[in-house]
Order: sequence, then structure tokens, then C-alpha cells
Amino acid sequence: MIGVLALQGDFKEHITSVRSHGYPACEVRTISELKACDALILPGGESTTIAKLLLSSGLDKGIIEFMNLQKKPVWGTCAGAILLAENVLSPTPLDTGLSLLNITVERNAYGRQTESCHAKIQIEKNTTDVFFIRAPKIVECGKSVEVLAEYQGSPVMVRSGRVLASTFHSEVYGENKVLEIFIKMMKKS
Ligand code: GLN
Repeated sequence: MIGVLALQGDFKEHITSVRSHGYPACEVRTISELKACDALILPGGESTTIAKLLLSSGLDKGIIEFMNLQKKPVWGTCAGAILLAENVLSPTPLDTGLSLLNITVERNAYGRQTESCHAKIQIEKNTTDVFFIRAPKIVECGKSVEVLAEYQGSPVMVRSGRVLASTFHSEVYGENKVLEIFIKMMKKS
């Protein structure tokens, strides 16, 4: 079962994407729903709002345990990637994230909502359609972090152990290459 954090953001699109790839998916709003999952997706949305709701629901500690103690994989997309980052730069630095991935991100670094754009990037030698919506930029990666895709010379998809992050939206397209990679991580864990 793949859980999708459903506190705010585009969790419904992720649920649809997971199911269309032939896997069961459920919305996660509580620790007990999280415990029933084999992997967790943190969707795009507004990272400040999601961070506040994570804190008030206790899911922040729950997700850290899910990854560190239960050894289950977590994938953050866009706002979800911001929540995973150890360091978040201006504007409005987030000090209540999960801090599970040794990267530094700068929020909204590709511009405003109206500058959202479609792009074609290379993921494991496949050309893949993705969408950047007020995306964060990954400006620094720790030594243990693998870069899986780049756009305009910066990393946009990275992984360290069981934690995967992508700064774009791939769930809006029928073929979701990032989800396929995440499913492989889930099967391995
Ligand atoms: N700009 C949003 C934030 O900083 C992220 C946007 C998204 O998830 N598409 O939280």
C-alpha cells in the first residue's frame, strides 16, 4: 500500500497516478493510517501549511520514525521535497520540516505561479515530461546524495538511501517515471 500525505496539496493526483500504475494507494492523515503503508509520498502544495499540519497532527515524528525505524521509503515532490530538506533558504525559511535529506533548497526559485512551465528532462536515459509549479531549486547536495535528474544545470531529482525528492510534478502525466523508480525502492525495502 502506498500512502499519500493528504493534509493539503495535490494528493488526489498522486492517488490517481499510483492506482493507474496498478498499485493500491490511500490517503494518510493520521499515524494509524501511516502505519498501514509500505511507502509514503509527500505531495506538492504549500510547504508552510503542510509543515504546520504535520506538527499539529504529530505526523512529523511519525514520518521520521516510518523512514528511520521502520525503514520505509519516502518520496517528496515539490513542497514535499522542501519538507524533506535539511536546509531551506529564503524566502520564508521553514524551520519545522522533517530534515530527512541532506540538501539545501531555495523556495520558489524558478519564479511565480504564472512562470510555471512544462519541461522535458532525462530520467534514467528516458526523456520524461514534467511540470514545474513554483518549484524549489536544489542549490546544494550532501555527499551521500545521488543526482538522478537535472534541469538547467541544477539537480531536480535526488536520492539518498530511502529518501527520494523531485522538485517538479510528474503525477499529472500518465507515465510517471519517478513513481516507477519509487516503486522499485519500495520493493527493495
Ligand atoms: N512554492 C511552494 C512552496 O514553497 C511549492 C509549490 C509546489 O509544491 N508546487 O511550498
